[in-house]
Amino acid sequence: MRVLKFGGTSLANAERFSRAAEIITSNTCQSEVSAVLSAPAKITNLLVDVIDNTVKHGEAEIQVAEIRKIFSALFDGLEEMEPSIDKASLYDKLERSVNQLKQYIHGIALLGLCPDNIYSRIISKGERLSIATMSALLEARGYNTFVIDPVKYLLSKGDYVEGIVDIEVSSERFKKEPIPAGHIGLMPGFTASNEKGELVTLGRNGSDYSAAVLAACVRAECCEIWTDVDGVYSCDPRLVPDATLLKSLSYQEAMELSYFGAKVLHPKTILPIARFHIPCLIKNTANPQGAGTLIGNDSGEDNLAVKGITTLSKLSMVNVSGPGMKGMVGMAARVFGAMSAAGVSVVLITQSSSEYSISFCIEAEDKPMAQRALQETFELELKDGLLEPVEFVDNVAIVSLVGDAMRTSKGVASQFFTSLAEVNVNIVAIAQGSSERSISAVIPDDSVSEAVKACHENLFNSNHYLDVFIVGVGGVGGELIEQVKRQQAKLADQGIVIRVCGMANRRGMVLNSKGIDLSSWRDELAKADEPFSLPRMVRLVQQNHIINPVFIDCTSDQAIADQYADFLSAGFHVITPNKKANTAGMAYYQQLRKSARATRRKFMYDTTVGAGLPVIENLQNLIAAGDELEKFTGILSGSLSHIFGKLDEGQSFCEATTAARESGFTEPDPRDDLSGMDVARKLLILAREAGMHLELEDVEVEPALPPGFDASGDVEAFMAKLPEADAYFEKLASDARAEGKVLRYVGSIENGKCSVKIQAVDADDPMFKIKEGENALAFYSRYYQPIPLVLRGYGAGTAVTAAGVFADLMRTLGWKLGV
Ligand code: ADP
Ligand code: ASP
Ligand code: MG
Repeated sequence: MRVLKFGGTSLANAERFSRAAEIITSNTCQSEVSAVLSAPAKITNLLVDVIDNTVKHGEAEIQVAEIRKIFSALFDGLEEMEPSIDKASLYDKLERSVNQLKQYIHGIALLGLCPDNIYSRIISKGERLSIATMSALLEARGYNTFVIDPVKYLLSKGDYVEGIVDIEVSSERFKKEPIPAGHIGLMPGFTASNEKGELVTLGRNGSDYSAAVLAACVRAECCEIWTDVDGVYSCDPRLVPDATLLKSLSYQEAMELSYFGAKVLHPKTILPIARFHIPCLIKNTANPQGAGTLIGNDSGEDNLAVKGITTLSKLSMVNVSGPGMKGMVGMAARVFGAMSAAGVSVVLITQSSSEYSISFCIEAEDKPMAQRALQETFELELKDGLLEPVEFVDNVAIVSLVGDAMRTSKGVASQFFTSLAEVNVNIVAIAQGSSERSISAVIPDDSVSEAVKACHENLFNSNHYLDVFIVGVGGVGGELIEQVKRQQAKLADQGIVIRVCGMANRRGMVLNSKGIDLSSWRDELAKADEPFSLPRMVRLVQQNHIINPVFIDCTSDQAIADQYADFLSAGFHVITPNKKANTAGMAYYQQLRKSARATRRKFMYDTTVGAGLPVIENLQNLIAAGDELEKFTGILSGSLSHIFGKLDEGQSFCEATTAARESGFTEPDPRDDLSGMDVARKLLILAREAGMHLELEDVEVEPALPPGFDASGDVEAFMAKLPEADAYFEKLASDARAEGKVLRYVGSIENGKCSVKIQAVDADDPMFKIKEGENALAFYSRYYQPIPLVLRGYGAGTAVTAAGVFADLMRTLGWKLGV
């Protein structure tokens, strides 16, 4: 005998019902088959709503009408597919069921409450109608069916709503009255009877358990759970779309996964089938060809230390503590005895090794009962101060890792906790199952999505997502988007998914949590009608539980730079080629680093100095290794490198500047370069990186213009006046030439002072050869002397700068991927 169970979504409408019927009948050629059915999707919830509404408002007409509508659509749809189906008798059964429901509603309304026995009778109605429907459909297709009444066959212990089936007694009943040969057995899920012969239910989602129980009672050759996913995944596929489908699980793994929240299986399902070593297959009704997940004696071939990540939400944590706990025999027994007597189920327990406290999680709705029970049990101890007032931590959840092989693998726990830290999730408590098959952390309920995503990214070989928000899409920003567009597919092949979820310029902002289509990003942005807004971006990230948001500022705006601290606090990495933040006041400079540390985010600005050259990273590495910067000299401006290089060749200053401007090497207004302020900012960034506490005003700046040169007026007026500077530069250059030197615009750091000025350098100086837009940076340090560490190369240009920003973006993943 094979037992097949179909869940609510697999029976949601006529087409799915028919597909389930086909799966059942296709199995009949191999062996005898019995099917266990849930109620069609939504029905049980509606029945629960009927009860709630009646208790609260004395009626439930809307819900009853909705139930009737779902079944009518089902019957009518099936008649279209199978005209010979006995629709009249189905409608008749529906009417009888609805009439009985109305009588219950009347009774509940009078009582103002719903007793458990009636509750169970009501919420199990959907399953019965499913069976009637399937029976009619299979009969119409020429099969004989036999309805297995669980009230007659399955004896349950426990209360009316959470029954546990006695397999021995129930098996005997099947032996006495077996399912007739040549008939397809059909059993409503989720129900059984108590010793008095009254109907009881087996707990919400309990049809899986019914199927396992039936399989155990008839010693089935296998039990198949047909649902709406391809099998058991490494975590809930609704949370992580690229979750891994597991080929196989051991009974223990499946038990642990379902206990800790994998909804795909009811926690009670495994015990009965494990007892008789019945293999259990989880399959997708919409994809019958798929292999599914096999649950059996062995963990199987997936070869994973961690098989799954699960969550249980809506919990409260109870802390019982106090000086009287230490050494007091039987404390734990009393705490949990009180919970058991109050009917409160304890989900997870931890005890501090000092024995000073016991903490455990319960369902949030049980909190009042737990509170009362503990108060009564420990009244005296609480009064005498032997126990501290019992503490409840509300709105917590449990995230668990499950896997048989965790017992023998190292480092899983550390990866687990690092992942939680990475998304800034605070761990309230931890617990490890004694079998070492599971490890759990109690965390705030609102962090569940982030926690699962981060754990899954790090523990499974799944995609790493970088969700990028770019502000400023001119030169560098625009080029960056183009580079991302070109690289997206290639990186995705390596498991790195970059999505541009937001972009903004002065005119507007576009947001899309799934990623903006980069083939038409300019059009999308042109259509944008909302302005750039930090709160809107933050809300998008929170609502979509994005775990790796990266904010990239490609503007040169002070106002945007002033918001970096807020972005970091909101959980974004911040990447910028904009120098304004790092050259603002020292207090803000420090605040940024503090915020980044607090939220474990990266603040990256490697392109602020030397564009794509790896300047900051190298300097940071040196300082981290204990080196100290003793002296620095550098050409930090591509445009000034150009202009001064041309002076060597005999061009006049005006000619050199005009040519550099025309070739796009300078800013549109060359005074921005010639003022020296841009170089001063870069120098300040380097100095601060080397540990110096300086402000921008502390940098001595001599502009790259003759002293007292009148640089006022508009750009054109300034350019027209520039020949007046030629004589000054000609003299300087010829004096230098006479000494075998050349003129360079140099930034230097020496003896704690930063200065930016025109210098004549000789042939031994690393700056001597630097021209044509090249940058050079010479670091003289304790480790690098007398020959300095020199970095040189193009230090400007949109392509290299965007590539540098791209490199920073990849480095936000660096510690995880080793890139
Ligand atoms: P049915 O109605 O068939 O009983 P359920 O809704 O009870 O189906 O269970 C299937 C759902 O369980 C899936 O749609 C999926 O969203 C959820 N689920 C949670 N965790 C997992 C997991 N680890 N693997 C597969 N599905 C999971
Ligand atoms: N229909 C019941 C419920 O929704 C049982 C089940 O589907 O497993 O809880
Ligand atoms: Mg289910």
